[in-house]
Amino acid sequence: MYGLKELKTAIVIEDNSVECPVRDCSVKVDRQRKSFKREKKYQCPTHKIFVSPTTFEYETEQDNLLWFDSKDKLLYDEIKKVKRESRISRDNSEDALTWNVMRFLDRQEVLKDFLSQLSNKNIKEAELILWSYSPKENSDWSLLNKARIEFGETVARGSEPDIIIRTDKVLYFLEAKLTAKNETKPSDVHNRKKYETGGNNQFKQIFKSDYETVAVKEKRYELMRFWILGSWMAKQMGIDFEFYSLVMKSREQKIKEDFGKHIIETPERKFSRMTWEQIYDYIKTLTNNKEKQKITDYYENKTIGYSSNSTIIKAFDI
Ligand SMILES: [Zn+2]
Repeated sequence: MYGLKELKTAIVIEDNSVECPVRDCSVKVDRQRKSFKREKKYQCPTHKIFVSPTTFEYETEQDNLLWFDSKDKLLYDEIKKVKRESRISRDNSEDALTWNVMRFLDRQEVLKDFLSQLSNKNIKEAELILWSYSPKENSDWSLLNKARIEFGETVARGSEPDIIIRTDKVLYFLEAKLTAKNETKPSDVHNRKKYETGGNNQFKQIFKSDYETVAVKEKRYELMRFWILGSWMAKQMGIDFEFYSLVMKSREQKIKEDFGKHIIETPERKFSRMTWEQIYDYIKTLTNNKEKQKITDYYENKTIGYSSNSTIIKAFDI
């Protein structure tokens, strides 16, 4: 995996060519424009990465994942059966970051501890559900599918929270972002599905603003959907709901206020901002071992490509 230590601090971009970003590599590949393409003419033959002026992509998905032993591979293959498509081999993939960080916490069996500290509650059980896949049920999580149908979605095309953690006291939803922003609008503004009417008209109990304002004008469609689904699911389970927008420390610093002003929070139902750096700070408190070393190196070394003036961007404020 290539990060700050392995990559050039700036790359030379010409009209028709781009330098391979790996240090000491003199290879130039054709310059690609618009949508990212994985073609031989854009690939460094030495480092096997596909290069564009702003980012690069590994040859395989596995190249971008820190954990991929036989158990991880099994889990990953199961997830892929339910997960939407994504560019997990891309350097700036939020899904790769999600896997690397959340699987670390899960593998080390510290999720309960992390969440107990986060919520100030004694969490005794925790199941990590990445991209809808429940290891306990060995399929996409049935309660999530019920929620999708309750609010007029279909199972196959329903909302897919990146990270769900199902515990004995709190249902957690974490919506992970790296370079993308929490700004989405419905593709069809006239099809409101059953977001307003499902769950016995739950909408007006959990929102101050109307659908049009939240989903369309303020482009909080994705956050809106997760707030709806999670609130309903937690109620079915008889536990609390905590919804986090997981972002870089430097990004979307006002997301708590910006989305928070539209929703009705209670002690049982809360929305907050969480940063990747906050998880890093927690990881630093853990007992040292090889995997901790690996994940902290990853965090410190992580980049999100090259800026418009061709200089490298460090991901985290650490
Ligand atoms: Zn190269």
